[in-house]
Amino acid sequence: MTIGRMPALFLAHGSPMNIIERNAFTEALAQMPHDLPHPEGIVVISAHWQSRGTRVTCTEHPRTIHDFVGFPEELYRIGYPAPGSPRLARRVQEVLGLDDDSGDQQRGLDHGAWSVLHHMYPLAFTPVVQLSLDVSLTPAQRMQMGRRLLPLRDEGILIIGSGNIVHNLGLVDFEDEGARPYAWAEAFDGWVDSCLTSDRLDDLARYEDLAPSAELAVPTDEHYTPLLYVAGLCQPDELVATVFAGFQNASLSMRCVRVG
Ligand code: ZN
Repeated sequence: MTIGRMPALFLAHGSPMNIIERNAFTEALAQMPHDLPHPEGIVVISAHWQSRGTRVTCTEHPRTIHDFVGFPEELYRIGYPAPGSPRLARRVQEVLGLDDDSGDQQRGLDHGAWSVLHHMYPLAFTPVVQLSLDVSLTPAQRMQMGRRLLPLRDEGILIIGSGNIVHNLGLVDFEDEGARPYAWAEAFDGWVDSCLTSDRLDDLARYEDLAPSAELAVPTDEHYTPLLYVAGLCQPDELVATVFAGFQNASLSMRCVRVG
């Protein structure tokens, strides 16, 4: 039986406060599964797992990692008990040509993964596997890595990149989630949007040379690069659509993108 090709998503996550808040962004997350086929499994490429070489979670029961400090107690009591899937992990290793050593028996799900899944799939029935960001890859290589995950989309697997297109923690307005975004933040976010809507996805990998204010918008690349994996999954006949746009805390773009 075929269900067709599963769309792929790039999702913003922003502050961990979104885990317990209800706002336009979290409501958009909760709505998204209604417009998607039901996934057989989920592969998340999160900003919060960087490694040398690509790693894949392969435990049956990944623990919930509360990888944030200084937030309300309530946040640390929330778990996301989705099962893992050693079988899906092996399939990821296979399509990426990774050896067995890339499988990680210890790693659980970080908040880049579970903070968005908590809103999308609150029952946590669907198995989740995480793929790390290999710090040694160039932006173009990250797009190629994404492209190699394409067969999974035909197997009912939802691939999610989780980060933020603009992410400058040094300039976050912690007091005001609704603070007006910086002009440079809007300029960079708008440049990404123009690449997505005018079929210039390859330019996304050259953001350092081409985009306005890249050094402010992407002071470190871990929140931006999950977008490159997702962009790499886009096929020539497919649409790319922004499914949520906006800013939180002045320097975090909450733009979410759907491929296919
Ligand atoms: Zn983050």
